[in-house]
Amino acid sequence: MLITLAENITTEQKNNIRTVLYKDGCIVRDLAENGQNIIGAVGRGNTDMEALKELPGVESIVPIATSFKLVSRELHPEDTVVQVGDVAIGSDRIAIVAGPCAVESRAQCLTIAREVKKYGAVLFRGGAYKPRTSPYSFQGLEEEGLKILAEVREETGLRVATEITSPTYADLMMKYVDVLQIGARNMQNFELLKCVGRMGKPVILKRGLSATIKEWLMSAEYILSEGNEDIILCERGIRTFEPYTRNTLDLSAIPILKKLTHLPVLIDPSHATGIREKVAPMARAALAAGADALMIEVHNDPDNALSDGPQSLYPEQFGQLARDLHVIAPVVGKQLDFNYLEKSAAIRKLAAESGVDQQKVAFLGEKGAFGHKAGLQYFGEQIQAVPMPSWRTVFDAVRDGGVDFGVIPLENSLTGSIHENYDLLLDYDLHIVGEIRLRVKYHLIGHPGTKLKDVRKVLVPAPVVAQCRDFLDGNEAWERVPVNATASAVKYISDSDDPSVAAIGSREAAELHGMDILAEGIESNPQNYSRFAIISRQPLTDEAKNKSSIIFSTSHQPGALLEVLKVFSDNSVNLVKLESRPIHGKPWQYMFYADLEADAREKAFKPILEAVEEKTDFLKIIGVY
Ligand code: PEP
Ligand code: MN
Repeated sequence: MLITLAENITTEQKNNIRTVLYKDGCIVRDLAENGQNIIGAVGRGNTDMEALKELPGVESIVPIATSFKLVSRELHPEDTVVQVGDVAIGSDRIAIVAGPCAVESRAQCLTIAREVKKYGAVLFRGGAYKPRTSPYSFQGLEEEGLKILAEVREETGLRVATEITSPTYADLMMKYVDVLQIGARNMQNFELLKCVGRMGKPVILKRGLSATIKEWLMSAEYILSEGNEDIILCERGIRTFEPYTRNTLDLSAIPILKKLTHLPVLIDPSHATGIREKVAPMARAALAAGADALMIEVHNDPDNALSDGPQSLYPEQFGQLARDLHVIAPVVGKQLDFNYLEKSAAIRKLAAESGVDQQKVAFLGEKGAFGHKAGLQYFGEQIQAVPMPSWRTVFDAVRDGGVDFGVIPLENSLTGSIHENYDLLLDYDLHIVGEIRLRVKYHLIGHPGTKLKDVRKVLVPAPVVAQCRDFLDGNEAWERVPVNATASAVKYISDSDDPSVAAIGSREAAELHGMDILAEGIESNPQNYSRFAIISRQPLTDEAKNKSSIIFSTSHQPGALLEVLKVFSDNSVNLVKLESRPIHGKPWQYMFYADLEADAREKAFKPILEAVEEKTDFLKIIGVY
């Protein structure tokens, strides 16, 4: 049930309501919806509803209509993010779980683990107890297999997932592995569900061969009701009449689950199709349909695999798939980060060194700004996001140590460079330590219930006017009020109670401030991407990088720029961007900004840099990333 509390409820009254619910054996959650104070409670059916209604501070009670309650969005509106070490499943960063069907040997697992890690997997899978259709098939290495998995974790840093087939193995699983998998055949093994519910480790709950979504969610409810909230739902194909594939991958389960539950969704196209060549297309489709994570079977020698060889990808095929997913992810507002683990470990280390829980990351605007999203997608959810009123204040905060990193946009695919930030990069002694590309999808945002025809005024930053030109020109009568940043504008309209004022901004900003999307995707061109730079006082990691940004100026002589470019050309250094900017105070003289495909800090690059220095009046490396 959802209990809405009176606006003026006292702490004492609230505690009293909780005590009554606890006494009845209810599981109680605090919820806030549109500023309303709500308690969610799931009981055993023995609560006296009439008496509860009469308690001081209770305004109204609405039963939760679905039979799964703890897993429902009603009781838990925000997405659950399951944390496995540094890996967050259910965030904007896609997590890939990869590995063989079964642990066969130490050498096999280590080989595959190193390969899949190289190609972007962040968790390793492998079965040590295999529930096979035939009792004569390979049943797994059992405890020996679990030991190998633990070794893989030690050697590669990848956390490991494996199937638990019986509560008897609970102690062994606690000792060796990080994530427990409930196999499709065990989805309704209620003793096993209760057992993993009590074990408290993250659980991958596979959908049963013939289970409905409702039955599957009821199984998740078993785990949650034992107190374990770290559940990842895994669609792995269901039985249909279609014999061309091993099972039928139910991709429509993704949007259905997203609506019904807060739990993250993992898609396993390997068991769903059973055929190697069908795995990659289904994985790409799953990402496009909104999956949070993918589980892919990979084997170094699939022809001789002890189980599921025909559906296992070769490591290189897995690598190709990961590259495709990397490209698709931003289109659907996510990222597949090839440096996920190194980056997370690096910021965890930095935080520990400075004795804080989280690193601080500054961006322009309010929470829900695209800079905020870029920061979250680059670093993951483990950062503390710090809003700033201008880009200059972002630079100031990074320079003065108030924050550890800044996120600034450098260019937009439609409207070009953001010159203010290039000028700031010249003025400040900070470094670009990373970059991230975001698809920028704009929405017209207004008060809930507002109709487009009621809008009179729209708050919109000047660069955004250029990106939403067609839509705005189609609504000529609206007064356009220039503002500094989109998310601040959304906050502003939510603070005012004039429904005729709308703002243009992100979906996140609308959701954060309880506003509605009045018109979706209003950017003139859907291929609208922004490139953000991460700035810092120090590099994030020491590993070799593949891109550097420099600023230089040349003398006022014919061919001076050519001389500099010739150094790059002679040394086969690829230039991916070259742009000129006026030098302040020196009319008609220019600085050049260049992005190179090279690590300018590398020893081998030193002579190239020296040659460039000789041909320039001024040279500054503003980033290696
Ligand atoms: C597996 O993941 O190897 C497995 C046995 O999967 P499922 O339970 O989906 O058949
Ligand atoms: Mn398998």
